[in-house]
Amino acid sequence: MKRIIRVFPRRTSYTPDDDMVFIGEPPGLMIPPHDEVHVSCVFTWDREYCEELRFQWEGWTDKPVRLGGPAYGSPVESFTPGLYLKSNIILTSRGCNNNCPWCLVPKREGKLQELPIYEGNVIQDNNFLQTSRKHKDQVFSMLRRQKGICFKGGLQNNLIDDHFIENIQAIRISELWLACDTDGAVPSMQNTAKRLTKAGFTREHIKCYVLIGDDMEANERRLQAVYAAGAMPFAQLYQPAQDTKLDYDRAWKKFHRMWSRPAAIRAHVERGTSMWDYGT
Ligand code: SF4
Repeated sequence: MKRIIRVFPRRTSYTPDDDMVFIGEPPGLMIPPHDEVHVSCVFTWDREYCEELRFQWEGWTDKPVRLGGPAYGSPVESFTPGLYLKSNIILTSRGCNNNCPWCLVPKREGKLQELPIYEGNVIQDNNFLQTSRKHKDQVFSMLRRQKGICFKGGLQNNLIDDHFIENIQAIRISELWLACDTDGAVPSMQNTAKRLTKAGFTREHIKCYVLIGDDMEANERRLQAVYAAGAMPFAQLYQPAQDTKLDYDRAWKKFHRMWSRPAAIRAHVERGTSMWDYGT
């Protein structure tokens, strides 16, 4: 098996933490024996820095230094646990059969493809609910051995069926992530949150990604609707795939920060803060 050093531009909660993982520039003479170096780039606005990292690492090894990842549209053929994600975070499928206009997954990964199933408690699939019944059953059978289970990739509201609900009731769920990215998605999110609540899950388990960044008042209404439906919203500021990250103004940054922190969200909803408080 190849010994691969993986290099990331920064550490996140998803970054693996074994001895072959490095953040940023080479640490000098302390590089462990290896066969290849992979610089992994997720975001397009990190490409310039990652290219610089490749150059830096080439100066410290006579082995191949490869640069790739989602930001380079690297082909997605398989998944190796622990390589570019922490070993408990797994992908059981790639791609998605939908085509949401703001999302790069279908362009980068194509139609949904089921993958071999490894052990893990965080399911990071883009659209797990589009997998076949047989695949889901195999995933649930693996999950019966896990604790602190998160469906983190975003569950498509209208694909949550009785089979899914019965199975999640039989395992140790920590988080179920829905998505409510447009105003049109609010009714199906409400319906899903209601069904999950009836099945015994609470706002502690039901989380919901909410895309924001166009109209603050409309975004606020959607975020409030998610909270009122019994889910904990998590705002995500829209970022197009381009070389420079969109720089939002102070009011948007404040709005985003508040709507991505559960304690601040609870306080905000309970005291009914007005739009004025965001500095708009
Ligand atoms: S359902 Fe999710 S993964 Fe699929 S295209 Fe839409 S946003 Fe992307």
